[in-house]
Amino acid sequence: MQIAIPKERRDHELRVSASPDTVKKFVGLGFDVIVETGAGDGASFTDEAFSAAGAHIAEDAAATLKNADIVLKIQRPLTAAEGTDEIALLKKGAILIAGLAALTNRADVEVYAAAGITAFAMELMPRISRAQSMDILSSQSNLAGYKAVVDAAAAFSRALPMMMTAAGTVAPAKVLVLGAGVAGLQAIATAKRLGAIVFAFDVRAAVKEQVESLGGKFIVVDEAAMKQAETKGGYAKEMDEDFKKKQAAAIHETLKKTDIAISTALIPGRPAPVLITEEMVKDMRPGSVIVDLAVEAGGNCPLSEFGKTVVKHGVKLIGPANLPSTISTDASSLFAKNLLNFLTPMVDKQSKTLKIDWADDTVKGTCVTHEGKVVHPALAGEGGK
Ligand code: NAD
Repeated sequence: MQIAIPKERRDHELRVSASPDTVKKFVGLGFDVIVETGAGDGASFTDEAFSAAGAHIAEDAAATLKNADIVLKIQRPLTAAEGTDEIALLKKGAILIAGLAALTNRADVEVYAAAGITAFAMELMPRISRAQSMDILSSQSNLAGYKAVVDAAAAFSRALPMMMTAAGTVAPAKVLVLGAGVAGLQAIATAKRLGAIVFAFDVRAAVKEQVESLGGKFIVVDEAAMKQAETKGGYAKEMDEDFKKKQAAAIHETLKKTDIAISTALIPGRPAPVLITEEMVKDMRPGSVIVDLAVEAGGNCPLSEFGKTVVKHGVKLIGPANLPSTISTDASSLFAKNLLNFLTPMVDKQSKTLKIDWADDTVKGTCVTHEGKVVHPALAGEGGK
C-alpha cells in the first residue's frame, strides 16, 4: 500500500501533510511512503529528513501520485476548473484524506465522486472524545489563536503588560476575544500570558467557566438565549435578531475601551457572523488592532480584508489568509498526527492492508464520496446521490 504526500499548491500554504515522525510510523505500519521533493520546505522538513524516516522522494506531483492508494493533503486538491488539475493525477479508487472544506466547495466534491475517489473531509470529524486526536480544526485553531495574539502584539504600538518604570507607568492593554472556542480560548491564554486584561464574548453559555479559568472576564449578553445556543455537535447556532441587537450593544460598549480585538466567531458551513461593524470601529481608540480570524468565512468585521493588513478609522485591521500556515512546522506536525491517528485504526496489522469499518463514526462522519457517489448526508441530495 502506498501513501503519497504531495506538495501543497494553493496560495498562502506552507504546511505539509506529513512529518518525518508520521512517515516513520506509516512505514512501521507497512506502508510505502512517497513524498514529493520539496513538499516539506515551507515547514522546514527537508527531503533528507523524510528520506531518513523511510520515505521515497519523488521528483514531481505526477510521480508522487500515480500509484498512490492513499493521498494525504492539507488543502483540497486543485481541480481542472482552477487551471491545474491535481485530481487527474490520482488513480481511480484512490483514497484522499485532507481538509476539503466540503460544505463550502460542493462542486469539488462532485469532481471527486466523478473521478472515483474515496474522499474523507477531515473538517467534518465528529466532536466525540475518541476523535479529539484526529480533529484538524482543533489542532490548527489552537495554533491560530496563539499566533493571532502574537501578530496583534507586533502590530500594536504599545505594550501588553503593565510596566512600572522610573520613567512612568505603562498601562496594561485590554484585549477582547470574540468567540471563545478553540482559537479564542488559546488567544485568551496567550494574551493573559503577555500581561493583558482580557474580556471575552461567546454565544454559548458553556464557555463562561472555561474563559474564567484562563483569567478572562466573560461578558454575558442574554443568559437564557445563550443556554440554547449550542448544537449537539458542540458548535454555535445562528442567533435571533433580538439577541444580535443586545450583543451588538454590549460589543460596541466594550470595544470603546479595547486596544486589541481578536475575533474568531464561526458558524459551520455558513458565513461568519458580523460582530464588529464600521460604526464600532470608528469608536475604537486610534492605534487599536483587530485580528479577524474569520476573514476566510467572510469576516466578523466587514472592514477587514483577506490576506491584508489595512488601517481604517485609525484602527489596524489584520485579515490573515491562513494563520496556521504562518506557524507551519508545528501546524504541519499536529495536522500530520491527526491524519496518522485517523488512518491507524483502519490498518489491519496482520495483512498490512486497509480494513475500513464503514460503520465507525469517524469514518461515516468524514467520508464525502465513495464508489462514484456523494455519500455524506450533509451533501448527498444536491446533485450527489
Ligand atoms: P468554531 O470555530 O466553529 O467557532 C468559534 C467560536 O465562535 C465558538 O466558540 C462559537 O460558539 C463562537 N461563535 C459563533 N457565533 C458567535 C457569535 N455570533 N458571537 C460570539 N461567538 C460566536 O468552534 P470551535 O472553536 O471549533 O469549537 C467549539 C467548541 O466545540 C469548543 O469550544 C469545544 O468545546 C468543542 N470541541 C469539541 C471537540 C471534541 O470533543 N472532539 C473538539 C473540538 C471542539
